[in-house]
Amino acid sequence: MDFSIPLDVKDEIQRFKFFLDKNMVSHVSEWYEKRAIPRSFFSAMALGGWFDFFMKDQRIVKRSALRAALVMEQIARLSPGVAVAILAHTDLGLTGLWLFGTEKLQVQFGPKAVNAETLLCVGNTESAAGSDAAGIQMRAEKTGQGWVLNGTKAYVTNGSIGDMAVVTAVTAPQAARNSRISMFLADLEGKGVTRTKLNKAVWIPSDLTRVQFTNTPVPEDRVLGTLGKGLQQVLTIFTHSRVPISALTMGTAVGAFELAVKHAMKRKTFGMRISDHQAKAFEIADWYARIEAARLMVFKACSRMDQGDDFRLDSSLAKYMAVLTAREVTAWAADIFGASSVIDEHPIHKFPMDAWASSLGEGTQDVQKLVIFRELVKRYETSSNLFD
Ligand SMILES: Cc1cc2nc3c(=O)[nH]c(=O)nc-3n(C[C@H](O)[C@H](O)[C@H](O)COP(=O)(O)OP(=O)(O)OC[C@H]3O[C@@H](n4cnc5c(N)ncnc54)[C@H](O)[C@@H]3O)c2cc1C
Repeated sequence: MDFSIPLDVKDEIQRFKFFLDKNMVSHVSEWYEKRAIPRSFFSAMALGGWFDFFMKDQRIVKRSALRAALVMEQIARLSPGVAVAILAHTDLGLTGLWLFGTEKLQVQFGPKAVNAETLLCVGNTESAAGSDAAGIQMRAEKTGQGWVLNGTKAYVTNGSIGDMAVVTAVTAPQAARNSRISMFLADLEGKGVTRTKLNKAVWIPSDLTRVQFTNTPVPEDRVLGTLGKGLQQVLTIFTHSRVPISALTMGTAVGAFELAVKHAMKRKTFGMRISDHQAKAFEIADWYARIEAARLMVFKACSRMDQGDDFRLDSSLAKYMAVLTAREVTAWAADIFGASSVIDEHPIHKFPMDAWASSLGEGTQDVQKLVIFRELVKRYETSSNLFD
């Protein structure tokens, strides 16, 4: 068991910090004002080789989960909202294409997606179906040329800037829950697509968009994976993306914690630094310990992923603990700043709301507990040994 981050990955992350200094730090407040991330940032990420994925022998290939997690954590320390836009493209959209795209689709769209010429997203949630993903209503009906989509995806990150979306739709309404849904790659510039950008107070400057499909044609060769297996497939995408979103969530916790500790070590009240009041010193120690514990769980999930082990339990454990930690530590960190924390432009202001948003993406805390318990039962039934 090795708890150290390999030296080459450490070096890469150091280089990535320079990249962020150059390409993000001085621009990010403008992106917050405009509530938009320029495509040039996605292109710079792609050019620098900072996405999870690249093309090799005409196939999409994934880099190490640990490296991807550390990249995600670094972006989120500065802006969880920018991090989630990158995540929606790579860890949702590209993951869908990587796991379920035919060779033809990977060749057709892979290079453009890994170069950020084509931005991707995933549309699954509908107004009546989020956690219970099997309850979606959007329909895909067979035509002579392929399929036609009708329905609305309620919350799509990158839905406004995205070019293509991995979407789920009902193809066999009378079939059982686990065989009525299929997955498609839909063109967001296509016929009958209406996009409405939603006003939100979390994960600024990423976009959250309602995407409506009205008689939108999808060619036959844009079916992803197996017809009727769309529910299992979208849940598989979420199982994968739970690992990077856990890292994003830890970046949210770490970003807020670092700002608060710096402030506590500078600002004086009652004649001493805030950090010298023992109550606050103990809180800092407590949060540092809890952040380290949650980060280790994220790294363990990365390690299982990189070793090709079953990571279903670990990805939910990591997400659950990351969110639990981030929600509390960000609220504590905002408190350390007193009244200044409520001002929109203050760097600490975004973190508590962004930590809250993390609890929704890729399944709520209740959904993580459902997965954790289901995986525990499986373990118990096969070996009655709950801890490996
Ligand atoms: C900023 C943001 C970005 C998003 N981006 C995307 C995106 O890119 N693509 C996409 O498809 N979706 C996206 N979503 C939607 C997100 O995935 C859903 O909001 C989430 O899955 C929860 O679904 P819901 O909102 O319908 O809540 P519900 O499923 O209605 O849940 C409401 C409450 O009930 C609890 N609950 C539900 N079922 C159970 C149960 N069985 N046991 C115990 N408690 C339960 C939940 O934990 C929650 O507290 C985004 C959401 C937000 C806020």
